[in-house]
Amino acid sequence: MELKKYIEAGKIGKEARELGAELIKEGASYYEVAEKIEKYILDSGAKPAFPVNLSTNHVAAHYSPVKGDNLYFRNGDVVKLDLGAHIDGYISDTAITVEVGTNHWAELIESTSEALKAATKALYPGVEIRVVSRAIEEEIKMRGFNPIYNLTGHGLARYDLHHDISIPNYDDGTRIKLTPGMAFAIEPFATNGRGKVKNGKGGNIYMFISNTKVDGVYGELYKRFKTLPFAARWCESYADYMNMLADGTKRGVLYHFPILHERKKYIVAQTEHTFVMTDDGVIVTTA
Ligand code: MN
Ligand code: MN
Repeated sequence: MELKKYIEAGKIGKEARELGAELIKEGASYYEVAEKIEKYILDSGAKPAFPVNLSTNHVAAHYSPVKGDNLYFRNGDVVKLDLGAHIDGYISDTAITVEVGTNHWAELIESTSEALKAATKALYPGVEIRVVSRAIEEEIKMRGFNPIYNLTGHGLARYDLHHDISIPNYDDGTRIKLTPGMAFAIEPFATNGRGKVKNGKGGNIYMFISNTKVDGVYGELYKRFKTLPFAARWCESYADYMNMLADGTKRGVLYHFPILHERKKYIVAQTEHTFVMTDDGVIVTTA
């Protein structure tokens, strides 16, 4: 457990999130916002743990802009900014929801930030996951919304963004304990819909499928990104990179993450922090 590296990655993640919150404004380009946030992470001495996700309205997660997508934030958009930094593979993962120019969804957004606070209060060394999940579920439901049932928080390990455990946003009875030495992300998602997301089209985020042999251009990419997700944007130095990535996906070398959107296109909000459990209690690295 490299606590110092987790804490430093968390601090940079928090600062990058705050920068992002300022940049998301009516008329701003998704592409430029993502690039500026990732540049900040690099300039701070960390690397992005995964591409900046900018997922809007009914899209819950996994959209990262690509050159030429012509996306600009519009008045009234509900934008989930989800980002991560890593130092030597030790990851922070954090998210907020920004409503552009309006205030229609403040209560929905607040239900996720309050749920995250309630989850944080519920944490102690050895707490069962179901206790944390129940705190999240109650906080969201008491405001008249639904948690997203099929999106969860998750364990973190070196170069491993979704390690081992899941932390659901409702009490599913999981009795696994959060014990000293564990790092994890908690990410309450809420919606005014029924609370299920489904896969949409590809969101320009890729990852190497483990245990596949990589060579040539894919070998070069694997050296850079290892087992962490990466953006199509990060491959722009290769001519025809979109076709290259599509081909890698077809050949089973790469996984192309689909965007996740609310089934009936209801609005989704999210708030997320990274935690490290110690003998003395929990540390919120991204707070
Ligand atoms: Mn995240
Ligand atoms: Mn996460």
